Amino acid sequence: MHEVQQTARLARTSHCKEYIMRVYNFSPGPSMLPLPVLEQAAAEMTDTGGTGQSVMEMSHRSGDFRPIIENAEGLLRELLGIPGNYRVLFLQGGASLQFSMVPLNLAGVEQGAAKKRITLVDTGIWAKKAAAEAAKYGELTIAASSADRAYGYIPPAPAPAAGSVYYHITWNNTIVGTKWPAIPDTGSVPLAADISSAILSEPLDVSRFGLLYAGAQKNLGPAGTTVVIIREDLMGSAPSWVPAMLRYDIHGKEGSMYNTPPCYGIYIIALVLEWLKRLGGVEAIGEINRKKAKLFYDYLDSSRTFYSPVDRSCRSLMNIPFIPRETEGPRKEELEKRFVAEAAAAGLVNLAGHRLVGGMRASIYNAMPVEGVEALIRFMESFEKSLP
Ligand SMILES: *Cc1c(COP(=O)(O)O)cnc(C)c1O
Repeated sequence: MHEVQQTARLARTSHCKEYIMRVYNFSPGPSMLPLPVLEQAAAEMTDTGGTGQSVMEMSHRSGDFRPIIENAEGLLRELLGIPGNYRVLFLQGGASLQFSMVPLNLAGVEQGAAKKRITLVDTGIWAKKAAAEAAKYGELTIAASSADRAYGYIPPAPAPAAGSVYYHITWNNTIVGTKWPAIPDTGSVPLAADISSAILSEPLDVSRFGLLYAGAQKNLGPAGTTVVIIREDLMGSAPSWVPAMLRYDIHGKEGSMYNTPPCYGIYIIALVLEWLKRLGGVEAIGEINRKKAKLFYDYLDSSRTFYSPVDRSCRSLMNIPFIPRETEGPRKEELEKRFVAEAAAAGLVNLAGHRLVGGMRASIYNAMPVEGVEALIRFMESFEKSLP
């Protein structure tokens, strides 16, 4: 067994009076949440802010819940620097429903009318899913793809196809571990981006985008809430047949309360944002995230056993796949299996790669401390030494 076997398993509660069992969770999502957030949620479970109720029991239209959603939106605006002409929506259905809502609202046409052009860059499995939905409602141009090298890079972004009503990218590709090295210039064509696995991980110039969306379960909070940030002039163009629940204009007009919003998820998001603000905001977390990623990439680049399959110019800060070198077939699979099992026994969990790509992957979102990455590297060094 390896030396680090117990280090990840014990965490001190924030008041330092006791130890509790916590693992370092490298899951791609749902993923780790900051311990102080979980502790505060636990402490407030039966009585939130002196109301004598759990957030789960509150009427979403009550004076008790309103400050919670307003706080969540206010903090998100402050931390991300969202300009005043953008709306923030708290929706449901995950990032996957946005694959449909974006084309329905930005490119949808009345029945019988000519379809509108959409440009999309294919950088992985999530981009492909977004493309499949966009093709149902618009004329889709896939302007570039990195499928030829297993999505291990981000292709140069071509200009939008003529007449495009929006241009879609997947900013951080959770499964293959790439991130756009720069925001593509799409001229006057609004840029829409899936930022599910990178939101708030480092500064991002929101004003360069027409629309951003993110499922909460990577960097924001629990699964079940989706954040959409949309420029006001793009809100109102859905054709009449689009269901009310799928229309940005209706959710916007109702302040994300057309129906019951995911209240508890929004509450946890507010706690996560308060934690992030105490930490120093997006600049500060960006520095920590760059440090974590550098530690891990430097280790991989010097390892005899593992390597990163991703081009250096577009490596993700959040999701880092790694693959055994020079081992093929059953031996490779055996090594991967043994790695994942021994890591889990050492309190380093969820390191298997995506079921469609295999290998291993460490997702190191905002809530993963530097110590977690250091523990993983120590484990991997020790694992390497144990190999024949
Ligand atoms: C996780 C993820 C999704 C899927 O999110 P759901 O909330 O499960 O629909 C989509 N895009 C990216 C980039 C993701 O990381």
